[in-house]
Amino acid sequence: MHKVTFIPGDGIGPEVAEAAQRVLEATGVEFQWDVVIIGEKAQEMFGTPLPDEALQSIKKNKVALKGPVTTPVGSGFRSVNVALRQKLDLYACLRPYKVYPGVPTLYKNVDIVVVRENTEDLYAGIEFAKDDSFTRELLSFVFNATGESIKGDSAVSLKVISETASKRIVKFAFDYARQNDRKKVIAVHKANILKFSDGLFLDTARQIARQYPDIGFDDMLLDATCMQLVRRPEQFDVLVLPNFYGDFISDLCAGLVGGLGLAPGANIGNDTAIFEPTHGSAPKYAGQNKANPIAMMLSGVMMLRYLEERNAADKLEKAIGDVIAEGKNLTYDLKPFHPAGTSQVADAVIEKLRNE
Ligand code: NAD
Repeated sequence: MHKVTFIPGDGIGPEVAEAAQRVLEATGVEFQWDVVIIGEKAQEMFGTPLPDEALQSIKKNKVALKGPVTTPVGSGFRSVNVALRQKLDLYACLRPYKVYPGVPTLYKNVDIVVVRENTEDLYAGIEFAKDDSFTRELLSFVFNATGESIKGDSAVSLKVISETASKRIVKFAFDYARQNDRKKVIAVHKANILKFSDGLFLDTARQIARQYPDIGFDDMLLDATCMQLVRRPEQFDVLVLPNFYGDFISDLCAGLVGGLGLAPGANIGNDTAIFEPTHGSAPKYAGQNKANPIAMMLSGVMMLRYLEERNAADKLEKAIGDVIAEGKNLTYDLKPFHPAGTSQVADAVIEKLRNE
């Protein structure tokens, strides 16, 4: 019996999360779900989108399955999701992107794992507003320290890259590669321009790579990576990136494999992990039984592997793959004519599991 915190989320969240919960239970693995609310609904019910009770539940169970949540405007959070990852120090964002046979996409042999740093870089949220007194102080400090003058009407966001965070994310990528029979890690950066911040990330990656002689290593500029991903994505295996670049490359990879409806993910720390799809709460489709639950279900497959339920994970991934390949019970994003609903996709996956 696995105790798992279950966060339905907002918008399409509850529908896709319920679909994932049903297929997970159909594998025969036993779960005890601790349901907690975060996001818009939590704001309405408890006056905060990130109630302490929810955090405590995740801290206690150490594993959570989470639907996407909306950050309520004016809640004091830049992003509830970012705050959650920072509070639990879930420093690694792990996202596998794979083309399943039958998916309508230009690409066939894509099987890329993106490992994105989750805690710093431009997304640490350290910003200075235009005309603020601290911004003026910062501008004069920069002038004194470097002789560079920044326009007085500027806003500034800090890009912070530390050796500590770079070390642990690159180590995570190599450990993942080793444990999952992956052959090569590529560190993506712009160290040619950002000599200190990305330069530190790259130097650190090179140092860590030396500790893993059994895994190949290379580095690539961000712009070249984008171009190569679109031209020849099958050449990539594991990519490791600072937070900001990881955001864009994740969506680019989701596009390669058939869209956000097929892109699962996990945010992982030293002893705690939250499994959630890459996509958001898509409010315009909320309550319509329309959203694709496969990204959420595949996040559930990742959770099963994390819980060392490898058999169940393989069975569930195969059942999802079979439903995709069959092409009958798929949502509008994969089947524009006569699409199936969210719950029908779950029913079809459960049917496959039963007929195993
Ligand atoms: P989004 O991912 O919610 O939606 C963008 C578009 O992608 C949708 O309009 C829809 O066309 C498509 N889409 C997304 N998921 C789909 C699915 N499962 N099936 C079919 N189509 C799907 O991105 P957004 O509109 O930028 O964000 C909406 C809200 O979600 C925002 O409040 C944002 O903060 C939040 N968000 C939350 C998370 C999270 O909880 N991890 C992640 C991203 C965005």
